[in-house]
Amino acid sequence: MLGPVSGGPAFDDDHPPTKDLIADCVHCGFCLPTCPTYVLWGAEADSPRGRIYLMNQGVNGEPLSDSMVEHFDNCLGCMSCVTACPSGVKYDRLIEDTRAQVERRHPRTPREKALRAAIFALFPYPRRLRLLRGPLRAYQSSGLQKLVARSGLLPRLAPTLATLESLAPKLRGAPKPPRRVAARGQRRAVVGMLTGCVQSAFFPDVNSATVRVLAAEGCDVLIPPSQGCCGALSVHNGRREEAQRFARKLIDTFETSGMDYFVVNAAGCGSSLKEYDELLADDPAYAAKAAAFTAKVRDLAELLHELGPVAQRHPLELTVAYHDACHLGHAQGIRTQPRSLLSDIPGLKLHEIADPEICCGSAGIWNVLNPAPAASLGDMKARNVLATGASLLVTANPGCLMQIAAAAQRQGGRIALAHTAQVLDASIRNLGGDALLH
Ligand code: SF4
Ligand code: SF4
Repeated sequence: MLGPVSGGPAFDDDHPPTKDLIADCVHCGFCLPTCPTYVLWGAEADSPRGRIYLMNQGVNGEPLSDSMVEHFDNCLGCMSCVTACPSGVKYDRLIEDTRAQVERRHPRTPREKALRAAIFALFPYPRRLRLLRGPLRAYQSSGLQKLVARSGLLPRLAPTLATLESLAPKLRGAPKPPRRVAARGQRRAVVGMLTGCVQSAFFPDVNSATVRVLAAEGCDVLIPPSQGCCGALSVHNGRREEAQRFARKLIDTFETSGMDYFVVNAAGCGSSLKEYDELLADDPAYAAKAAAFTAKVRDLAELLHELGPVAQRHPLELTVAYHDACHLGHAQGIRTQPRSLLSDIPGLKLHEIADPEICCGSAGIWNVLNPAPAASLGDMKARNVLATGASLLVTANPGCLMQIAAAAQRQGGRIALAHTAQVLDASIRNLGGDALLH
């Protein structure tokens, strides 16, 4: 494998963005107003069309300049442009291949290297993330967090740390998930479940709710503790080999489980799990296994919609704003299923959020690497969310929940947050709407 290079053509022969895919772009510009970086800065090079133009320069032999890399790095990978494009340009494929080239061939500064190394030594490892829970809970409950906030020093001294600190959700106790939960009533399916990294460490309640809802809807749920990371964060940031290692391990973990489906409750993870067949296409030992695995992957809302409800829904008197996580809406095309599941709950009123196609600025680790523009996007989203007047914001991605919660708090807005699974769980268990408004 090549190390970082300077000079020479931008891309090598190992999966560069291809001329064919680049040529699909007819430069119409329909994608521009849906691109968050174009909305923020109005610069052509920070639009989908502009980035495709830079990729074209690269495949035609131009070197990978710092400025080119900056525009590629600025992309949130939100895939809003894929939805908007009338010509079917596969920007998702293009940016993923470009990022892998950038990671291998572009020399990062020592600061960038250190930050990325720290992020990738922590975030894809659920056990390491869980070790942070104790100190973080102590920090939140001891009053130290309020003291630090009042001092205003952290954003000035350590903006990345300040961003992480502002994103961390309020932690409660986290019971250990069981390994297997039996279906209630007649069994309709056996499902393997991804517990996730950030989801399992910081949103264990979402995983518990997911298991209860699946069991209530007639699913045996398999939750092996050794499953690890799915590789989404790695693949979305150009670390293809690392992502492949995670993918092989996950496939091995569930290979003999007898599952009918593999269910995911985090949008970013779901979209990359659905591309395991492409990720491992060149691996003769895993290509067929990966294709079989991919065929079983379902987002939670997608699976519940497919199975149809059997558990009784009890009323929840709530006004809900539903936020389409980019990797659910744009990347997986799942928009109607969660809305339909929520609208079927008696008493629940669903509100739409203005400019739904624009990313909230979370985008995996984009908000950690780019705190200031991410905060601007978060503020835009939070304003639109608060304008709905809803008492509860529902979405299906832990990153969006953390990002919008932090932005709403900055604006002094009050809105509770929940994952779709938690709303369904509260309805099935007849907990009443107030249970979600804490
Ligand atoms: S993925 Fe999102 S940020 Fe990147 S070019 Fe497309 S719309 Fe813009
Ligand atoms: S909408 Fe599609 S074809 Fe038009 S400029 Fe954007 S990427 Fe190119």
